[in-house]
Amino acid sequence: MASICESTTLKISAAAKKLAAQGLDIIDMGVGEPDFDTPKHIVEAGCSSIRMGETRYAPTAGIPELRRAIAEKLCRENSLSASADDVIVTPGAKMAVFAAIQALLQEGDECVLIGPSWVSYEPCVAFAGARVAWGRVDEDFMPLDLAENINAKTKLIIVNSPSNPTGSVFDRKVLQEISDLALDHNLFVISDEIYEKIIYDREHVSIGSMPGMADRTVTINGFSKAYAMTGWRLGYLAGPKETMKWVARLLSHSVSQATTFVQRAGVAAMLGPQDEVNSMAAEFRARRDMLVAGLKDLGLPCSVPGGAFYVFPDVSAFGGGDAFADRLLKDALIAATPGSAFGPGGANYIRLSYAISQSRIKQTLERIEKVVA
Ligand code: PMP
Repeated sequence: MASICESTTLKISAAAKKLAAQGLDIIDMGVGEPDFDTPKHIVEAGCSSIRMGETRYAPTAGIPELRRAIAEKLCRENSLSASADDVIVTPGAKMAVFAAIQALLQEGDECVLIGPSWVSYEPCVAFAGARVAWGRVDEDFMPLDLAENINAKTKLIIVNSPSNPTGSVFDRKVLQEISDLALDHNLFVISDEIYEKIIYDREHVSIGSMPGMADRTVTINGFSKAYAMTGWRLGYLAGPKETMKWVARLLSHSVSQATTFVQRAGVAAMLGPQDEVNSMAAEFRARRDMLVAGLKDLGLPCSVPGGAFYVFPDVSAFGGGDAFADRLLKDALIAATPGSAFGPGGANYIRLSYAISQSRIKQTLERIEKVVA
């Protein structure tokens, strides 16, 4: 446990909240959480379930209605051939990531992460006694020569498109290259698709739907980002039967299951109207456009993110990510995450989450202008 660092993003968010509690006007761009409320019909479904007395244990893998709705969604939208039996519901996608990694890796194994990657993958790999090999990426965060990272110990590649922290989206060609490597070297792939619905003019492709990948891919998704349900803690995974068996075993001896009435809310999210999902994504897009244009004007180069709600500007001209994030907090009261939190490839960057209003983004740009002037 001592070798595993605490989550930098949660640490920064706590620091920002503390400063805000002292009365300072902090702009919190550190947090990976939509600023919208959960759509009303989803809240209602959760409330009505609890009122109806659905307050007891549910099956470890989830209530049948939700597993069925998820399997249908995976077939319809992601071209996977999952049945309800292949799906396991978890308390948050983070638990799905943790459980899948524990199921797939053991002591001495290696796992490839592609460029700057979400903060929790490496600790989850370390919990399994395995280690991370960091794949190189180009300036748009597309993989470069991943084959260099593969050796006899490599068991797993983690794909996260759209990506946290870079916002990059892998197209079919990139995914095909990853899938070729997985097939050639007999590797598993975890595809974390939690930002699937927050994507701009790009096609979301599930690598598990590519030829030969079904029995070596674990697809992970959740409700936090698409439905603004971070606090409800609801996620899921689907994958090969044997892997799902180990995942169920881990859950049965740890968290038991996702909360019963939260799963009812999940059914409403899956089966109900999707217009709020789309309107939230449209608002994120307007914010992205505003922030990316503003940062470019201020001389902070940044690849245009195709999805998620993060921009990842290069701040090497301003002393690198750690120093610049410090300056932003002290001199501009902006909480940002230093790119080093996302692995060695992130040191020249900061991550700004644009889960804040357009008027706050305008203020952010004005404050950054003073810092870089
Ligand atoms: N994967 C990625 C890439 C994420 O950014 C997050 C949330 N920050 C998660 C998984 C976990 O989401 P949750 O546990 O809230 O469902």
